[in-house]
Formats: sequence, structure tokens, C-alpha cells
Amino acid sequence: MRSLMFESPGELHWREVPDARVEHDRDVVVRPLAVARCDLDLPIALGLYPMPSPFPMGHELVGEVVDRGDDAGDWQPGDRVVVPFQISCGTCDSCRAGHTNACQSVPPGAAIGLGPAGGETFGGALSDLVRVPYADFTLLALPDGISPVAASGVPDNVADGFRCVAGPLADRPGEAVLVVGGLAASVGLYAVMAAVALGSERVVYVDDSPARLERAAQLGAEVRPVTGDDWGQALGSDRFAITVDAHVLDAGRNLALTGAAPCGTCTSVSGGAGRTAELPLRAMYSKGLTYEVGRVHARATAPAVLDLVTSGRLDPAAVIDAVIPFDDAPEAMLDPRTKIVFVP
Ligand SMILES: [Zn+2]
Ligand SMILES: [Zn+2]
Repeated sequence: MRSLMFESPGELHWREVPDARVEHDRDVVVRPLAVARCDLDLPIALGLYPMPSPFPMGHELVGEVVDRGDDAGDWQPGDRVVVPFQISCGTCDSCRAGHTNACQSVPPGAAIGLGPAGGETFGGALSDLVRVPYADFTLLALPDGISPVAASGVPDNVADGFRCVAGPLADRPGEAVLVVGGLAASVGLYAVMAAVALGSERVVYVDDSPARLERAAQLGAEVRPVTGDDWGQALGSDRFAITVDAHVLDAGRNLALTGAAPCGTCTSVSGGAGRTAELPLRAMYSKGLTYEVGRVHARATAPAVLDLVTSGRLDPAAVIDAVIPFDDAPEAMLDPRTKIVFVP
């Protein structure tokens, strides 16, 4: 089969590799129907986020089951499924607690399409076939009436935006939300979308990208453009009980922290671009801020997102810029637009 390999910055190529196949009883093999480009894929492809190479790319996946192991639950060939990218077994203590990004049955970081983890390699979603471990637990049925393209980002970037606001809004219903956009380009917009869907009375979106600002306004946000490097001035004296850092770099993250109201919460969807970051810890302490930083729990979060999608309250397709054939993926992985979805 063919698989899209990241070989070096700017160099992605389709290569022939052995067919993905059932290796364990709980595996299924799926044929991709749609694969979205994650916000992390673009910096990887450009070389801004160094990764050992080569490795097969693609991890936001909706597919059709083509083969199954003997213990792969009820999944049958022909079933259309949403595939959480993190490998999670469903039976370890972490998975049972809902911490499905920290499954103890696999090395830390084990995922489809994100390179080797602890010596284990899983295939990429931009392939003719993809093996999905622990399929009985991890797979979700694609709801009727939802297209594979629309659902492809649900367990990753859509869920990531959702979790930034869902918990805080459950604690403080209707509260205003600040989203600082940037390198987690679609995640920030999905956070806007989720905040609106979950009843935030006011969603403010800050960014320096005219295209993302326009999209955020279409999604219902009040937008605050940043020009130049003046992120610190974007809010004036406005403060928010719930803030989201989808900017990734110091300037935007610190705006999300300083823009938080006393005893507010701030969620960062990235640990930043460098190994260390300057946090305004004393100001955070004085304000009594709750700061959450960590990866989404893909499998645990996706069902609530799918519920919002099937109820019509959240439409992930509203953030998609282009649907592009697999054949053109080597070039389109480098496309600067926010959200690209590949179809075979
Ligand atoms: Zn991702
Ligand atoms: Zn587990």
C-alpha cells in the first residue's frame, strides 16, 4: 500500500510500504474516507517542530472497517468509524479514569501518524490502510448524516477546542470566554465554536491573522485584531473568567494568562514552541489562576463532541478551507490555510 511519509522539512512523499493488517485480536484495519490536517502537521511539515524522520503522517481520521481481529468488539467490515489518534486500551487505570492520552499499555505519546513512541511505530492515516489497536474500546461510530470530511477532526483538533471551554463553562454557565488564536489555528476557532454552542454570553477572539479573525467573527466571536507585536494591548482592561491559549508562542499565551480574571481558568493547548517558556507565575498566583496545560484526551472527549455535531449545534466543517485529493497531499501539507481535509 502507499503511505505519505514525512522525510525532511518540505519533503513529503508517497512511498510503498507493507499493507497494514490485523496484528492483535483487538485490532481493526480501516480504509480512510477522510483525513484532516492537524494544526501540528503544518509545523512538522515545515520543520518548525522537529521530529525524527521518516515517519508516516496523518492522524485525524474517519474510515471504513475492512478487517478485524477476533476480539475487536462489534465492528464489522463496512462500518464507518471515527478514529481517535492516541492509542488507548480502555482497560488500564488511566484509560478507565478518562485519561486516555496517558494509556499505560503503550509508550507515552503513542499515536497514529505522529512518529515512533518508545520504539513502537504506528502507521499514518494518510495511507491506503490503517491499523487501529484496541478498536473495541477506541473506535466511535460515524453518526448517520455526518460526512466523513466534517467528522475527520473531531477526536483531535475539534475535541481540543471543545475541552478548553466545556469544563470551565460547565462550572460557570454562560460566562464570557477569551480565545487567543495563532499556531493552533483550527483549535482556536473550534474553541470559539464550542464556546458559542455551549452558551457563552460573549466570546472574544484575538489574533493577528485576518483570515482567522474573519472566520471567528462568522462563528459568532467579537474579534480583536493584533497588529505587529502588540499582543499585550489587545484587551485593554477587559478580563475573562475563562481564557484559552491557542496561540502557542509566549506573546499569545501570556495574553491569555493576563487576560484571565481573578480566580479564572486558562487552558493552553500547547506547551509552546521551545523547551522552556516564561510564565508570569507571581501574577498568576496573586490572581488565583487555574492553569491547565496538556494534551486532549482524544477518546474520552470525542463522544461529547460528536453529540454536539449530531444535534446540529456544532459544525466542524465551518472551519475547513479545502478538501484535497490524497494525491496532492505532499504539497497541500505545506498549504498555509487553516484547515485542509484530504480524501482518497
Ligand atoms: Zn493532532
Ligand atoms: Zn489504557
